[in-house]
Amino acid sequence: RAKEKRGSQFRYYDEKMDEQIQRMHSLRSEFANALLRNELELFYQPKIDLHTREVVGAEALVRWYRDNRFVPPGEFFPAIEDTDLMRKLDWWVLREAIRHAQEWQGEGRVIPVSVNLSAMTLKHDSFVPGIEALMAAYPLPVGHLELEVLESVSQQEAEQVVAKLERCRELGLLIALDDFGTGASSLVHLQQLPFDTIKIDQRFVRRLLEAPGNEAIVRSMVSFAHYSDRKLVVEGVENQPIWARLLELGCTSGQGYGISPPMASRQLPGWIDGWETSDINLDYNI
Ligand code: C2E
Ligand code: MG
Ligand code: MG
Ligand code: MG
Repeated sequence: RAKEKRGSQFRYYDEKMDEQIQRMHSLRSEFANALLRNELELFYQPKIDLHTREVVGAEALVRWYRDNRFVPPGEFFPAIEDTDLMRKLDWWVLREAIRHAQEWQGEGRVIPVSVNLSAMTLKHDSFVPGIEALMAAYPLPVGHLELEVLESVSQQEAEQVVAKLERCRELGLLIALDDFGTGASSLVHLQQLPFDTIKIDQRFVRRLLEAPGNEAIVRSMVSFAHYSDRKLVVEGVENQPIWARLLELGCTSGQGYGISPPMASRQLPGWIDGWETSDINLDYNI
């Protein structure tokens, strides 16, 4: 094919770009359909207290199975990120997570859920009225719902965002800063945002034992959390050596494939029962 087009490289690249744009468009409309037909599913990844193993909550993560094939969020988010679909998805996820949390509460279980919220939804004018309406219609005890927001909130927008997050806290929601340390914000700036929890991104944790730089970064985040009186959750706890090192570094709670991958909502209560009654692994001796 390249040979045929010798001498018309530009056309070749144009075609490639067209192809990519086409793919984005079709992914976007397929995703819109999936949302409309309620074909998305919320999975949950448990978060535990790394000292006691107790389950302290679960993060809701959207799952899209297209023709029985799992499409990872990293694949479809680029296609919807800057569109209204992103906000539609966020509201669907919020509503669905609240429904699950209430279901579990009705069964006498306390499973605080965390929901990822895109910056677009947070910055939109409909955000505060939407949250107020949701919380009025489906009340949850204080601390049962947490919003995970990215730190990519610029200085200019800070004032508005601060007010919105504060309103959420008045309504009994918790706020977590997701992927802490991966954005461009300075600590001085982050320090001013109203949040309860810092989430350390998996990229620093997965290779904690191989890359000494990662350990230094985790250490500094632990001390920032401690100093600013925020809770700390670590992502990417993939195995027991990492878990053990995290405890030595002063990390208190975490989630990761070494504890459990995200699972369907109906599996979570049973998983928790199994996890909490299972014997402490004696090899794991800290
Ligand atoms: P995130 O919020 O930082 O979520 C953590 C990601 O790390 C999830 O990927 C999770 O499956 C993955 N993960 C958990 N434990 C491990 C581990 O031990 N090792 C490794 N390598 N990965 C682990 P996922 O589900 O693919 O989501 C990727 C990102 O997409 C999320 O990052 C979040 O920013 C976004 N996202 C996912 N679901 C939603 C959603 O419902 N709404 C919004 N707005 N964003 C979402
Ligand atoms: Mg998250
Ligand atoms: Mg994260
Ligand atoms: Mg992440």
